[in-house]
Amino acid sequence: MARRIVVVGGGVIGTSVAWHLSRAGAGEIVLVERDRLGSGTTWHSAGNILWNPIDMHDLPILYMLDEVIPTVTAESDQETGWLQTGRLCLARTQATLEVLAGQAEEGARRGFGSTMLAPGEIAAHNPLIDATPLVGAWLNGKVGRLNPADLTAAYARAARRRGVTILEERPVTGLVTQGGAVSGVETAEGTLKADLVIVCGGLWSRRILEPLGIALGQWGCEHFYVIARTAPALPRETPSFVSADDSLYGREEVGGLLFGAFDEDAVTLENGAPPDDFAFSLLPENWDQFGPYAERAAELFPCLKTAPIHRFVNGPETFTPDGKPLMGTVAGIDGLLVASAFNSGGVSYSGLAGQMMADLATGAAPRFDPAPYDPNRFGERTHDVAWMRQRVSGTPSSHYRDVNV
Ligand SMILES: Cc1cc2nc3c(=O)[nH]c(=O)nc-3n(C[C@H](O)[C@H](O)[C@H](O)COP(=O)(O)OP(=O)(O)OC[C@H]3O[C@@H](n4cnc5c(N)ncnc54)[C@H](O)[C@@H]3O)c2cc1C
Repeated sequence: MARRIVVVGGGVIGTSVAWHLSRAGAGEIVLVERDRLGSGTTWHSAGNILWNPIDMHDLPILYMLDEVIPTVTAESDQETGWLQTGRLCLARTQATLEVLAGQAEEGARRGFGSTMLAPGEIAAHNPLIDATPLVGAWLNGKVGRLNPADLTAAYARAARRRGVTILEERPVTGLVTQGGAVSGVETAEGTLKADLVIVCGGLWSRRILEPLGIALGQWGCEHFYVIARTAPALPRETPSFVSADDSLYGREEVGGLLFGAFDEDAVTLENGAPPDDFAFSLLPENWDQFGPYAERAAELFPCLKTAPIHRFVNGPETFTPDGKPLMGTVAGIDGLLVASAFNSGGVSYSGLAGQMMADLATGAAPRFDPAPYDPNRFGERTHDVAWMRQRVSGTPSSHYRDVNV
């Protein structure tokens, strides 16, 4: 009899995992989603995907861009909204510029369309930028954006076409274990038997595993961007931007400017995750936290001093103490895998997560090294909530420490 695999959670990660499992012929696959697909963090993601020649980005992102997006689009007949815009990586200091120049050289060597720009050349790529505070920029051609809800729908449709069952509005209320191994999941409609369970519950993964005495090393934080109505209207193809020196990123959105921050001392959620019925929801605006970043953004984009803010998206996202996701086998319980805590990169790493889970589920030689993502790597310290909150609060701001995206 075919092995039954239950995937818990239908965000961009769970749907990618289900699709990858079905392509690998891993068994009978059922995806169980508490609410609607994409209703957790995925629906409000900014949808940027960026290549960079550093470990976490290089091969996983090329896999995503060159293989996953074209294949899932073809298999599902569902467009993802993918648009290759390129990205202006801005430098305020010579030190930043030198790091970017090294990355640009590698991008050019690989033929990705990679150009270093002098300050006077930057505004030609985005007329809203005032380059006065800048010493230069890298125009990285291997970058773009898509619509995360459409990507999730594409994964789900392609998975269904390959025989995956997707059950929406079916919260998993518990994991069933027998003799140290997982044997199924409980739902209000009864128990679903499983030989393997893969928890892709995003913000809620820690809560799902807690009854088994496992404290996953992840915690939810407030994470935000705003959308300003700016003039002149930007064309959709305008390159996105990042200013690592300011912990800021952004892109065009419906002619205006979307910009967000990877903030210092990020605000951690009281209980690690929002309530269980939090779906297609946001947290309250937090101008106290975002204000300093808006001021820095206005130094680069002077129009932001007066532009009306159309929307403040404060969406919770899961972070880990070291900024890397949790992907792999949960120690101590047989047949339990996790793919969670994507540190604001889950759309980009959804291909990596799907491939890694499929390789683990089938015992295939791993295409990507799972070692850095071992979900057990923080040991027992993850039970200490104060430690978790303190460590994770510093993770978003570490994102740009290597001028990495
Ligand atoms: C403001 C912001 C901007 C971002 N921008 C980007 C970006 O530009 N690029 C990028 O790559 N990433 C970005 N991200 C990150 C990305 O959105 C997330 O990493 C990704 O969506 C996480 O996907 P997920 O599937 O792990 O989680 P989710 O989307 O939250 O999915 C988890 C699912 O599990 C379900 N679930 C929970 N509990 C249960 C249960 N008990 N039973 C059944 N189902 C359950 C939930 O309903 C949910 O649908 C951004 C995030 C934020 C907040």
